[in-house]
Amino acid sequence: MSFKTIIEPFRIKSVEPIHMSTVEQRLAYIQEAHFNPFLLRARQVIIDLLTDSGTSAMSSEQWAGILRGDESYAGAQSWERLEYEIKDLTNYPYILPTHQGRAAERILYGYLGGKGKVFISNTHFDTTRANIEFSGAEAIDIPCREAADHDSDFPFKGNMDVAKLDELIEKRGAVNIGAIILTVTNNTGGGQPVSMANTREVSRVCKKHGVLFIIDCCRVAENAYFIRHREPEFADTSYRNIAQQMFALADGCVMSAKKDALVNIGGFLALKNEELATACTNLLIITEGFTTYGGLSGRDMEAIAIGLREVFEDDYLNYRIKSTAYLGERIRAKGVPVLYPIGGHAVYVDAGLLYPHIPAHEFPGQALVCELYTRGGIRAVEIGTVMFGKYDEAGHTVAAPMELVRLAIPRRVYTQSHIDYVIEVFDEIMKHRNETRGLRIVKEPKFLRHFTAHFERL
Ligand SMILES: *Cc1c(COP(=O)(O)O)cnc(C)c1O
Repeated sequence: MSFKTIIEPFRIKSVEPIHMSTVEQRLAYIQEAHFNPFLLRARQVIIDLLTDSGTSAMSSEQWAGILRGDESYAGAQSWERLEYEIKDLTNYPYILPTHQGRAAERILYGYLGGKGKVFISNTHFDTTRANIEFSGAEAIDIPCREAADHDSDFPFKGNMDVAKLDELIEKRGAVNIGAIILTVTNNTGGGQPVSMANTREVSRVCKKHGVLFIIDCCRVAENAYFIRHREPEFADTSYRNIAQQMFALADGCVMSAKKDALVNIGGFLALKNEELATACTNLLIITEGFTTYGGLSGRDMEAIAIGLREVFEDDYLNYRIKSTAYLGERIRAKGVPVLYPIGGHAVYVDAGLLYPHIPAHEFPGQALVCELYTRGGIRAVEIGTVMFGKYDEAGHTVAAPMELVRLAIPRRVYTQSHIDYVIEVFDEIMKHRNETRGLRIVKEPKFLRHFTAHFERL
């Protein structure tokens, strides 16, 4: 017998209060935060869907690991455990622990980058792009064609356009390529999965040209779920083994443990090539720490080692992907335009379609993010022109390709009733759809402006 209701495959051992608030209070809070939810205090938020990064609830096993953590400076047992787990998963011989994903990115892409270098990805995540561009190099996104069609139910919209990849490497010259980066799942492209078939193709093209192939594996377990259920060849393969087969196709990986390692901080870089690993290790020691802890404490490493096992469990992944889809399917049924099919860690609302009366330079995504907060106390993030927009030489806004809002679901944190509440708030969003106005930026920094920019309502 099988039931329709998705139940969390865990019981709650420790609880954290949520502070309730009224619409009036939230209007004042968002004004104080300059209409940028990144500047809100967490206690002003009821349901926090800002990110799935570092927001996971750890298991009792992980908390036990926290106590076991070996804090020796060099060669700690916790490092041995972490190194063993990562090697077992990736089969890469060189493991560099870092305090989070972007530290691994800064080390690797800082070393490989610089003026004249080109990086190519299905879609670069924001910190990936920032690290590449900061080095002076160029970051080019080549998602597959199906990615742009929001209603197509193509099963692997996270794929890279392999024909374009081949062409681009040819055109730019293999010696100028920093790396090819496959982001699984494709976070910025809607949390959409990448197929094994596509990974094989990318691998083949990289080998043909002799260029480095790196997997941004933040959500490799969630991606494995989609491969098993959508690529018939893998119907009987374990999630962990699917991930292992994927790693076997690349030359290394960059990981933010704050995602699929089910911890609150951490990351790593894992590489096949000794020479590259040695160069990166030199940088690791300068900015992160000694080779057997990098930017991490022993207890962090212990929790990551355990999380990397737990995340591939059948019951966990089944609940994880189905509860994300539940939210997406329900709001879609209300007429909310969402990226479809629903991805792994988040539901992406197309605010450009939701608010066709708000032009890109008035930030429809930011408008939705402010609406979700004031009406329901829900915090989400804009992934559109605020995050990726640029200015041309005349100072006009160059819009991002899509105006998205991401509702990211923290792992093992919210229950079905929390998600039902979010679904209900969308009734209000839809009711006030036509009267919702855009915003303008009054203050912004040079890099990653979405984190700290100030806005005014128009
Ligand atoms: C989160 C993330 C990163 C950066 O990791 P941090 O731990 O936040 O520094 C890189 N790539 C992708 C795809 C991510 O989701």
